[in-house]
Amino acid sequence: MSNELHYEVKTERREGVTRDLPEGDADLRWVANTSTLIWGERDAVLVDTFTTAEQNERLIEWIRAHGRTLTAVYLTHGHGDHAFGVGALRTAFPDARILATEGTIAELRIQAEPAYLAGFWEKLFPGQIPTVEFPQALDVDHFDLEGNELSVIEAGHTDTEGTTSLWVPNLGLIVGGDVVYNATYPYLAETTPETRQNWIAALERLKALHPSFVVSGHKQPQNGDSPADIDATIQYLQDVDEIAGTSADALDFYRQLLVKQPGRTNVGSAWATAKLIKGAPVGGQSA
Ligand SMILES: [Zn+2]
Repeated sequence: MSNELHYEVKTERREGVTRDLPEGDADLRWVANTSTLIWGERDAVLVDTFTTAEQNERLIEWIRAHGRTLTAVYLTHGHGDHAFGVGALRTAFPDARILATEGTIAELRIQAEPAYLAGFWEKLFPGQIPTVEFPQALDVDHFDLEGNELSVIEAGHTDTEGTTSLWVPNLGLIVGGDVVYNATYPYLAETTPETRQNWIAALERLKALHPSFVVSGHKQPQNGDSPADIDATIQYLQDVDEIAGTSADALDFYRQLLVKQPGRTNVGSAWATAKLIKGAPVGGQSA
């Protein structure tokens, strides 16, 4: 006998990771991460954590306010902005299992290398990045919440290696991780034309589940959790490859992308994509 489930999404805003942008759009340089709590009568499961120590403390307060026993935390992928809360969550909820796929753990190991942590995350968020702790590897593709099966959907290389989404049939809910973006420029710095095709195929597989709700890994806080974000992300990836062929250089690519895909925040990722595809401007870009 399975219980009816509910879910809620918490967002936390932070500065984007690409900071050497062309002038303009200063009000669109932020990005919000999502963390999703799914609960039944007694128990709850959390999907993804946040970037900074302070954000993860607020996350813990928010979970406690729901008055359920946290039985599991699931990480959709290994990027630090989704995984840096593991240590704080483990301390706050010692009985909760902290779970991820082998692919997620492998990516988190890369993020946790001292040179990468110091050269990337700690430079961007000085004094705010928690000590990295690791989840335990799932040896099956599902786990349970009060008799309801929560299924891991492998997506392969989307915004990084070994990404996943979580499917909750009871709610018709996909917690997309960074396979799906809402009104936010996606992080494409680790992609190639081939991995972007894989990404589109992964989105098509999510669409085939006919979800009622889709939580993007990054969303604008005022927005809902619309399945339309799947198609919007497919369209975005197609537009990137089209503009790759019609733009003269990185700045031209960036301007065309902002015109073709307006209404998104996190312009730093649009600029990082421009530099990836067209090459960084000679002599660097004046900020
Ligand atoms: Zn992310």
